[in-house]
Amino acid sequence: MTKEKFKIEIDTLKKFFELYCKNKHQNINSFTKNLVYKDGNFKIDLHLCTKCKEDIEYCFQRLLECPHEIKPRCRKCPNPCYEKSQWKKTAKIMKYSGVRLGFNSIKSKLKKMLK
Ligand SMILES: [Zn+2]
Repeated sequence: MTKEKFKIEIDTLKKFFELYCKNKHQNINSFTKNLVYKDGNFKIDLHLCTKCKEDIEYCFQRLLECPHEIKPRCRKCPNPCYEKSQWKKTAKIMKYSGVRLGFNSIKSKLKKMLK
């Protein structure tokens, strides 16, 4: 995928995880994550609890290793890279936050990610 697409994907994950975590969990910490994709450097500030931090890092790792130049929707991927339990957890977070954010643009992004 392109660097632009990568940036959109990580921003979407951030938005969804942060909303879910804020409403569900306590002991939220701030931290900064540096990701290198292709020759791009992406710095992302996150506000999540320890557990969600682990989960989002798993998602980032899957994205970094996504072999598709044109990323398919994860649900339609011929070689899904998420472990099943991790995928279920992520889908739950995306669904939860998607409903609450409720913007059309986010809905379409969510559909793209989950289909
Ligand atoms: Zn959390």
